[in-house]
Amino acid sequence: MKPSLELLMPAGSTNKMKLALEYGADAVYLGPPLFSLRARENHFNNLELNQAIADVHARGKKAYMTLNIFSRNRKLKPFSEAVVEFAKMKPDAFIMSDPGMASIARNLAPEIPIHLSVQANCMNWESVKFWKKSLGIERVILSRELSIYEITEIKQRVPDIELEAFVHGSICIAYSGRCLMSSYMDNRDANQGVCDNSCRESFKVFEKDYFIEDAKNNPGELYQIDEDEHGTYILNAKDLCMIEHLDKLVAAGVISFKVEGRTKSEFYAAMVARSYRGALDDVIAGRPINTEWSRSLDKLTNRGYHTAFMLENPGSTGQNYKASTQYQEQYKFLGYNDDTCEQALADGDVSIHVKNKIHLGQTVEVLRPGASPLVAKVISIQNQKGEFKDQVHSGSGIHRCHLDITQKIPPFALLITDLQSEAK
Ligand code: SF4
Repeated sequence: MKPSLELLMPAGSTNKMKLALEYGADAVYLGPPLFSLRARENHFNNLELNQAIADVHARGKKAYMTLNIFSRNRKLKPFSEAVVEFAKMKPDAFIMSDPGMASIARNLAPEIPIHLSVQANCMNWESVKFWKKSLGIERVILSRELSIYEITEIKQRVPDIELEAFVHGSICIAYSGRCLMSSYMDNRDANQGVCDNSCRESFKVFEKDYFIEDAKNNPGELYQIDEDEHGTYILNAKDLCMIEHLDKLVAAGVISFKVEGRTKSEFYAAMVARSYRGALDDVIAGRPINTEWSRSLDKLTNRGYHTAFMLENPGSTGQNYKASTQYQEQYKFLGYNDDTCEQALADGDVSIHVKNKIHLGQTVEVLRPGASPLVAKVISIQNQKGEFKDQVHSGSGIHRCHLDITQKIPPFALLITDLQSEAK
């Protein structure tokens, strides 16, 4: 029997997890800040992790726990105590990169499968065999620097291993986080989960020339350094986007399609899950991938999309030299509904957590799980005391918006707006 294909989304918080699941994820990954490579903007304590995993299982989906730091000696003892508690939460696997920590998990929690984290930089079939034989790894999360050709060979050489590949999200300028830049510049160690994205900063050029050249290895190949009033972005890799090539990854033997971004917004969680769900369903049904899915990803802020090393070496086209994170902001995320908001309201009404300014008369797009977006105008806005407002801003809590449509708005709807139409 063919293994089923899995869309695996990040869960940086309970809200983002619920949105990702509602919009089509088959599985999520989440982890405790102390042992996971997302120590910042990760608010899961053990109680919440336990509840989140139970919620995912209640929906018949999977939850993988990231324990993928590279541990110093001092963290081994606390980890040995913690991993026993983590195992009681019954995650579907631990995602790990440190061989010492993985050995501890294997000994103290043998019932939980281990998936090899992308941080382990598994790049070839001998490495896959090594990890499988030495620690009984069931799945390898492939290094983001591999090509589809290399992935195909790994699967052919080691057919009894599950392969997971990143298909979307931020890319490091270094081998998947093996980077000291953040440590050096800001004393925050990427390998302990506290990277400060130093590579995305603007740098000033103090040389006379505005090109750099690796004269020894690539004589004549010039890398342009443009500097504007903000500086220059010579280390800023574009974002990975493989949505148009999922069929090729399936043919190569990948069964789990992973999205990066536990620190990204609720909008990102919903929109990326929705787009990749649609594309993966097209692949499963044997249809051409609808271009609507890749177009919808353009609504998210991104650094410019590319296919990293999957199809060919990206060279300088894999970099965004112009800007750091606001490469694209045509759409603004206004707010989202979840199970802490009022439900079962009148037609056209939606209760939302406000994330950006909403005002009367504004044209909004309503994203709905499993359905096409609706376009509507904001007719009225009320706070939780029932007072009417002309506009509300980020941080003002839950508000009820009445829109000029006659449909019921389902739970977990999102409101976004097109900034270009706003400007007209
Ligand atoms: S500084 Fe940049 S390259 Fe280094 S780990 Fe952080 S995101 Fe990756």
